[in-house]
Amino acid sequence: MDIINPSNNKVISKVEIDTEVQVQEMYIAAKKQQKVWKNTPIEERIAAIKKFAELIIEKENRDELASILTSETGKPLQESYNEINGAAVKCQFFIAESEKYLLSKIMNSDGNTQEILSYDPLGVITNISAWNYPYLVGVNIFIPALITGNAVLYKPSEFSTLTGQQITKFLHLAGIPENIFKMVTGDGKVGEYLLDLPLDGYFFTGSYPTGKRIAEAVASKLVPVGLELGGKDPLYITDEVVDIEKAAESAVEGTFYNNGQSCCSVERIYVHQKMYNQFKKNFIEKVKSLKVGDPTQKENSQGAITRKAHLSYLNELVIDATEKGATLEVGGSVIDSAGNFFEPTVLSNVNHEMRCMQEETFGPVIGIQEVANDEEAITLMNDTEFGLTSSVFSSNQERGEKILKQVNSGTGYLNCCDRVSGHLPWSGRGHSGLGTTLSPLGIWTFTNPKGYHIRTL
Ligand code: NAD
Repeated sequence: MDIINPSNNKVISKVEIDTEVQVQEMYIAAKKQQKVWKNTPIEERIAAIKKFAELIIEKENRDELASILTSETGKPLQESYNEINGAAVKCQFFIAESEKYLLSKIMNSDGNTQEILSYDPLGVITNISAWNYPYLVGVNIFIPALITGNAVLYKPSEFSTLTGQQITKFLHLAGIPENIFKMVTGDGKVGEYLLDLPLDGYFFTGSYPTGKRIAEAVASKLVPVGLELGGKDPLYITDEVVDIEKAAESAVEGTFYNNGQSCCSVERIYVHQKMYNQFKKNFIEKVKSLKVGDPTQKENSQGAITRKAHLSYLNELVIDATEKGATLEVGGSVIDSAGNFFEPTVLSNVNHEMRCMQEETFGPVIGIQEVANDEEAITLMNDTEFGLTSSVFSSNQERGEKILKQVNSGTGYLNCCDRVSGHLPWSGRGHSGLGTTLSPLGIWTFTNPKGYHIRTL
């Protein structure tokens, strides 16, 4: 398989794709070793993760990892550093909190019987992952899965294979046994081999169509399935925003960070009519100052679009919107160059008949729509099949929280957006997914609870 640098479309490496037999052999080895791993003291399992988190941010390692990540995804080098640092911070949550949430606990004493709740690992699970944040989305899954005593067959995206290799290398260096964390190399076809195995859990990060395909394919196995899927995340500017410039800055960052290739990037903006012109002006000014180009150069805040095929999709969305009456305020085109670059694009006068307000754009294209009041904003925010995050800007906290309560999404942001914390559950509703990662719930996700009734005679 060719590994291509999206900022110049040159082949930077070639890797061998795993065969079905090789994947089956990985499973057999992992199954055997997991019986030992689950009985390894949790302190040892956590110590290995602690070492991993230290290793990836050691200066020399981090420089190399960031450079590899940028070379295959096209994201600005600084964002690659941010991602690696962010992954280490997320690991800290699991390092600090896992043991306490996995301790067996007496829930009730009934005469001479103790009722005890405890947690078993699931067994051998797979993590089929996405390319947009291979570290950040990976650690949500494989870190708690390993700490709770599972073996992991990890299939990174074909667009972040070299990073997947590095993650695997550093986990092994940190003390995770080779058969407990196995990397499976290849594209969706190789991913299908995993669906045929008798695994004990399927944990997927990626698009809704693939997530649906996986959930359907493994349904009859009756094992846990976790799906972290796409979003069409709305942001609403009320008429009670004191610092509109700051709000616009935050919205630009939430929309265009990683070129909009984030599951929780802002995908739709609604603005109260009293603030519409002011917000739009500030937002557009800031978008015009974004610099697109070679992601290894500091001055460029916008790198390449990772998948070449996505450029024509973004073009289609812009054409669809303008044909239906939208105003193209900034950008709108592929940049003529050897790499996959698209102009940061703002459309106004949009409505929900347009594809850019319905489909996951997953790129630097945003629509801004004027609304009359909170009621209309809430109706529009909920007019989607997705439900990952939603955000409201208002200096009136009570009003902001009241609006967020009525929006059907797994996460709500007030006066901020595009944030993930290890301490809070990460979960999507509707087409945004199934199950929970992060927070204590995201530790238990990788366990089977077991109740013991212990009677003394
Ligand atoms: P994708 O669905 O194309 O691929 C994801 C993974 O699935 C890849 O490893 C791919 O090789 C594999 N795959 C593809 N077909 C398969 C099949 N039939 N069987 C098994 N595996 C298969 O998604 P992507 O382009 O890598 O990622 C982008 C999507 O991921 C966006 O929709 C984004 O919003 C979503 N995402 C969600 C979250 C979240 O936390 N909710 C985080 C990151 C990305």
